[in-house]
Amino acid sequence: MSKLKTQSLHKRDSELANTNKQLEILSNGIFANGELPTFKDKIAESNQFPLKPKPLEILQINVGYMCNQVCEHCHVDAGPDRKEIMTKETMQQCLDVIKSTGAHTLDLTGGAPEMNPNFRWFVEEASKAGVKDFIVRSNLTIIRANKKYHDLPGFFKKHNVHVVSSMPHWTRGKTDKQRGEGVFDQSIQALKDLNAVGYGMPDSNLKLDLVYNPSGAFLPANQAAMEKDFKKALLEDFGIQFHNLFAITNLPISRFLDFLIASENYEDYMYALVDAFNPSAVANVMCTNTLSVSWDGYLYDCDFNQMLDLKVASKTKHISNYNEEVLQNRDIIISQHCYGCTAGAGSSCQGTVA
Ligand code: SF4
Ligand code: SF4
Repeated sequence: MSKLKTQSLHKRDSELANTNKQLEILSNGIFANGELPTFKDKIAESNQFPLKPKPLEILQINVGYMCNQVCEHCHVDAGPDRKEIMTKETMQQCLDVIKSTGAHTLDLTGGAPEMNPNFRWFVEEASKAGVKDFIVRSNLTIIRANKKYHDLPGFFKKHNVHVVSSMPHWTRGKTDKQRGEGVFDQSIQALKDLNAVGYGMPDSNLKLDLVYNPSGAFLPANQAAMEKDFKKALLEDFGIQFHNLFAITNLPISRFLDFLIASENYEDYMYALVDAFNPSAVANVMCTNTLSVSWDGYLYDCDFNQMLDLKVASKTKHISNYNEEVLQNRDIIISQHCYGCTAGAGSSCQGTVA
């Protein structure tokens, strides 16, 4: 297993482990004194407040915060010390919803979702529901972390899972700085393992996409240009192939917020996000077509709101009393972290949106 770079905010008893503290930081200072407009005021300028959902397309389920890595930027504050794990009972409630919803995409995430003891059962059952696109967000290193995970590429293939994996750079130095010592080498080996069973090949329908997010307090560069650079470097250096690269902006919450504050970059980063605000990205932000389910079954507008414990503003707040019609009428809960989704070409779990 990779040498861990740090511990979760929870384990460190950091004050930022408290979501109210994070929300307080995001509401005060430069936003309270009028230096910068709040996200609400900004989207109201183009008549886009309140933000409303469109028909549901993506159900994203977080099966637990446990992870074999402790990446510097992690918005989940995941790590080996996190014990929040979705139970089989909650998974069953999710399966009932997956079968009845009109969503075309199911997106399993974590932590490292594979570390949930019922992960394989859940994938087997969920794959029977026949959703068009069944995504598992795998951090790659988990495939090499322990012998019991070595067969994951074959397991994913058997269930026609679409694998989406983080890979912050094609060089060892930049990847290990953000994700921990040894992560690059293990990720390269895992990508080779996935390629070996057919994932990521140009004519293969076994989809393998990579996710890039910046390693510091800056916004991602052009997604198409980066994809070209990643493809060239990974093919030339390691013979690795993949399909798409998604460029994701780091949102100022959790461990990335901690990093911004510790490195004295918080205000500059918020200025950069607000400067890059793109009103045409607002209509397609992730929360408009996605619902996020937490390990304990609560519903959120997106994975980021989940990590800030901002449950949906609806009578239906839990997967056990899921009602899509009622949920459609809600207003989406926003705060200043939302500027991360509307900067430049916009950002979502599937990359740019504008
Ligand atoms: S970013 Fe992903 S791989 Fe890294 S600690 Fe968070 S959940 Fe784990
Ligand atoms: S952070 Fe969540 S709620 Fe805010 S704009 Fe992004 S997807 Fe929507």
